[in-house]
Amino acid sequence: MSNPQSLAEFALIREFFSSGFARSTDTILGVGDDCSIISSRADFELVQSIDTQVADIHFPASAPAYLIAQRALRCAASDLAAMGAIPQGFHLAISLPHSEREWLEEFSRGLKDAANQFNLDLLGGDTTKSKQLVISISVQGWVPTGSALRRDRAQVGDDIWVTDKIGLAALALADVLKNPATTDGLAQAYYFPNIQMELGQLLRPLAHACMDISDGLLQDAAHIAKASHVTLQFEAAAIPTAAAFLHADWWHSIGGGDDYQLLFTAAPTQRHALSTLQQRFTGLSRVGQVLAAQQQAVQLVHNQEILSLPEQIGFQHF
Ligand code: ADP
Ligand code: MG
Repeated sequence: MSNPQSLAEFALIREFFSSGFARSTDTILGVGDDCSIISSRADFELVQSIDTQVADIHFPASAPAYLIAQRALRCAASDLAAMGAIPQGFHLAISLPHSEREWLEEFSRGLKDAANQFNLDLLGGDTTKSKQLVISISVQGWVPTGSALRRDRAQVGDDIWVTDKIGLAALALADVLKNPATTDGLAQAYYFPNIQMELGQLLRPLAHACMDISDGLLQDAAHIAKASHVTLQFEAAAIPTAAAFLHADWWHSIGGGDDYQLLFTAAPTQRHALSTLQQRFTGLSRVGQVLAAQQQAVQLVHNQEILSLPEQIGFQHF
């Protein structure tokens, strides 16, 4: 006998994952068939990404379902912002340890609130049972042909920019683990990372290379450096961080991930356009420059001196 509070698979999908989501006019067929069908847009390219979050690795298993859903969808949607994409929709694969109504209601509400904020249509998914909660979300969106913001386009002489403060979510982690239900203070930044969906699109004609910072500023900067065959040199004191410059927490701020701000490079000729954007996006900061490839892919400088970096500079699963 199933628990009266728990729901069967198809009832669950119908009730929580089939209505109330932003609808895209490009969606011909969404939840309910074997595949979703999306009409292609002339002169646009489809960009796609998938992101998985595992309970007790990416979020505390005991966190409120609303917060788990918000964070999962925001983190997945961040990859669209990083490419400068116009959001279209997402698929959700969820493995659940149970199917309790109250939990699902809150999860579905969090998912809808986040999806509607970014105009992401729920296109379909997969629902399974497992010992631990695992959430995989694939997202997709459009970019005008040839204009996606890639990691391998940084040019020597570019400025380096970040879209807002780094390190809030990393510094929140200790509090979040102690009290997973709190959204006070820094925990807000952990559960509701401020995805730069609009700014990402505005950067399309301005930026050369771009990515979202999910594993720590320095480690992620190395990805742009390696893909573009350049060195990214940061002016350490110019990086907007949650902790005071060179305080112990400062290293944690620039090494920690989870803020999902954008890191991008742009020609110095774009400084005027970017300073105009700073009036609306006040966190936008110029933090360094792109050099011809040196021995180190990423350098931090202060008073013209290169700071030595800690050995492990960001998050890695293995
Ligand atoms: P199939 O057997 O073809 O894989 P399913 O029986 O697993 O399809 O799912 C039925 C329908 O419900 C499909 O359209 C699928 O995309 C959708 N679906 C299943 N789980 C979810 C979910 N968690 N969120 C959104 N849609 C879902
Ligand atoms: Mg099928």
